[in-house]
Amino acid sequence: MTFLTLIGLLLAATLVAGYFRMSVTSWTVLTAITLVAGIWYFDAGFITTVLAALVFAVPALFLNLKGVRQQYFTKGFLKFYRKALPELSETEKVALEAGTVYWDAELFTGKPDFKKLHDIDKPELSSDEKEFLAGPVAELCRMLNEHEFNHDKGDMPKEVWDFMMKNKFFAMIIPKRYGGLEFTALGHSAVLQKVSSRSAVAAATIAVPNSLGPAELLLEYGTEEQKDHYLPRLSQGKEIPCFGLTGPSAGSDATSIPDTGVICKKKIDGKEVLGINLNFDKRYITLAPVATVVGLAFQMMDPDGLLGDKKQLGITLALIPRDTKGIDIGRRHLPLDVMFMNGPIRGKDVFIPMDYVIGGQEMIGHGWRMLVECLSVGRAISLPSCSTGGAKMNAFATGAYARIRKQFNLPIGRFEGIEEALCRIAGKTYTSAATATMTALAVDRGEKPAVPSAIAKMHVTDMARDMISDAMDIHGGKGIIMGPKNYLGRAWMGAPIWITVEGANILTRSMIIFGQGAIRCHPYVLKEMEAAHLPDMSESLKKFDKYLFQHMGYTFQNGVRSFFQGLGTWRFDRSPGDKFTKKFYSKITRYSAAFGFAADISMLTLGGSLKKREKTSARLGDVLSHLYMASAVLKRYRDQGNQSADQPIVAWAMHHHFYEIEQALKMLSYNFPSKGVGIFLRRVIFPLGTHELPPGDRLGHKAASLLLSPNETRQRLTDGIDKEESEYHYVAKMNHVLAKVIDTEPLERRILKAIKSGEINEIDPSKQLAQALENDIINKSEFNSLTKVRAEVAEIVAVDDYPFDAFDRTKAQTDDSEQSKVA
Ligand SMILES: Cc1cc2nc3c(=O)[nH]c(=O)nc-3n(C[C@H](O)[C@H](O)[C@H](O)COP(=O)(O)OP(=O)(O)OC[C@H]3O[C@@H](n4cnc5c(N)ncnc54)[C@H](O)[C@@H]3O)c2cc1C
Repeated sequence: MTFLTLIGLLLAATLVAGYFRMSVTSWTVLTAITLVAGIWYFDAGFITTVLAALVFAVPALFLNLKGVRQQYFTKGFLKFYRKALPELSETEKVALEAGTVYWDAELFTGKPDFKKLHDIDKPELSSDEKEFLAGPVAELCRMLNEHEFNHDKGDMPKEVWDFMMKNKFFAMIIPKRYGGLEFTALGHSAVLQKVSSRSAVAAATIAVPNSLGPAELLLEYGTEEQKDHYLPRLSQGKEIPCFGLTGPSAGSDATSIPDTGVICKKKIDGKEVLGINLNFDKRYITLAPVATVVGLAFQMMDPDGLLGDKKQLGITLALIPRDTKGIDIGRRHLPLDVMFMNGPIRGKDVFIPMDYVIGGQEMIGHGWRMLVECLSVGRAISLPSCSTGGAKMNAFATGAYARIRKQFNLPIGRFEGIEEALCRIAGKTYTSAATATMTALAVDRGEKPAVPSAIAKMHVTDMARDMISDAMDIHGGKGIIMGPKNYLGRAWMGAPIWITVEGANILTRSMIIFGQGAIRCHPYVLKEMEAAHLPDMSESLKKFDKYLFQHMGYTFQNGVRSFFQGLGTWRFDRSPGDKFTKKFYSKITRYSAAFGFAADISMLTLGGSLKKREKTSARLGDVLSHLYMASAVLKRYRDQGNQSADQPIVAWAMHHHFYEIEQALKMLSYNFPSKGVGIFLRRVIFPLGTHELPPGDRLGHKAASLLLSPNETRQRLTDGIDKEESEYHYVAKMNHVLAKVIDTEPLERRILKAIKSGEINEIDPSKQLAQALENDIINKSEFNSLTKVRAEVAEIVAVDDYPFDAFDRTKAQTDDSEQSKVA
């Protein structure tokens, strides 16, 4: 009995050491003291003492005597590990090496250091950026008539293109020394947010040259001659760039592009020139129909050995002028009726000189690495920013409409059903803005945030689709009838575009977020892999042993912490934050430990097959993503000065994220490929079962109400979008009417009361108003303001109609089908 008590004490001391993340030395001291105290207190006999000491000594010696451990355990394990280590494809190696880690890695530790989160700068635009937003961006916004672009012209008018080029909208990432604007990532993001709040066509047009494309590739890898030639021309708007990677057979699997460039010699003006003969077929290329310079990815081959022995040289990137002989460019695709420039590019026997290769001859074959390295930066900004701009405008417009539009004598926003959708819009807009900003700030810190950019791209575009869908439901027919008065329908149609581009969302969720994160962000996995492959065996053994045992300790600690925190100890953890946020910080810590543990158990039990277990990988990715977004929400709340008025929306977002995390972990355990492991995970992570609930009704009511009237929270939530009243800005006009509608609501209530009491018995609303005046229910000035506001409301609620034959496009269709080719 005493022996079992002593073992129990040893176990308890070990669990305490695990929970408080003690080092091996501290664990040894703690367990030794506990054992001695136990032996003394329980007056253990000789045999019991020896047996208990043995139980303590074996693991203690194993953990403390590194030399012995390496010889008798790690050496054998290293051999097995080297054999079992899944062979990484070249593509995966590139993806792993490209990019850096920051807060995403902290979330893997099981005990994130929130000081690192708070140390990320507060978002602050430079004076140049503020001036640009107040000047050219505001002016551009006044010119943006999305309905005209999409419905009437199928393009932006020439003056809009000219204005963009003249004001260097395509040169935000180009340094000033080349004539560009040299904006920070935050500044770049702010411009995209404002423009996208008015026009998806304009935003897509601006996003592409500033994202993954010729400018960024030239800046990172171009030769001096290429930079000096192209960057000033791109800055001055003398060139419009596009970048062609995707083709009919190579979409998500972009490394499989079949387009070829064969190294050859050709006589030009009597001189023999070494160059490349290109054959390619690209599709979906944004800006291609109007591009003057085409960035192109292709497989380089050297069958005649003109450069050396290697025949397959790998993916290579080149910049090719549009008018190069053999290029077929200019046709357009129709991307869901959102009329930005997009189309195919085909090339047959296009000969280009060697110096068209980006970075010159030495960068031949490095194209994939170049693309992946640049992708994390562009992906961190373009789509998260454009989707956030759209989401903010959506929240701004839908809140106003839900207050202005009445049914059953009440603003529709007061109905609980509408409230449910409205609070989702409020909470997800907050998260989108927080995530986009935090990820852009990472770029400004010099990071190449591979995992956060995938999280931001996938989740912010996904939330934008959810939100526009909710907004459409709230608007009813008003969102459906297309025309100048419809500010939603086109955004709803276009939502799947942003889901698909720059890494389609299903693939990003299933393969990239956890797939890259697990190795990139994990504190030990990459170190272990690198150590295992060191050529010097003794160095390899030493380092591998060190990381392996740290890793084992880390997994054990996360398991212990998960279990006890699942019992409720997370409430007593030391966390930053005030009365409102402290519990949210603590929960991030709780789920970070659970995530770290689940990730390790998944990797340990599934090994290389985890790559194919996309559902498992996706669920782990969801946990990481929601932890990242929840952290971003807390950072935004803090950066904005802990505004108590914003708390309902912040709390809504946090409850949503925690609920999603718990659901993902729960589904992970229930669907784990091995049932036994799934049950084990569930018992450790949720010893008392699952408890998170989605945001409650009372909270939802408070969050939704904040969208229904002009107030500081609504202002902060939608900051940075275009709210200035201008000719084509329907939503800004609507916002103006919102304040008047709220002012006249008491009068409307008075009239309603009179109708109910029978004092007013007319049916026609205008006659009711006249009767109200006649019966002194309202005075003349109240009558006038109500008449005016009602007219303005009618204008907002109105939709467009057209002559009977307005949609007869048969002639245009006949012309089109004659010319159409299969893309
Ligand atoms: C409007 C528009 C603009 C674009 N602009 C450009 C551009 O400027 N330049 C350029 O080069 N490309 C561009 N693209 C191409 C874009 O990047 C691709 O569409 C994208 O990579 C997906 O390829 P795909 O459409 O062929 O879909 P597919 O690759 O056929 O994918 C179909 C579905 O399968 C999923 N899927 C594929 N593989 C996996 C997997 N292993 N696991 C789970 N799911 C998977 C995808 O997530 C997707 O949901 C553009 C596309 C569009 C629509």
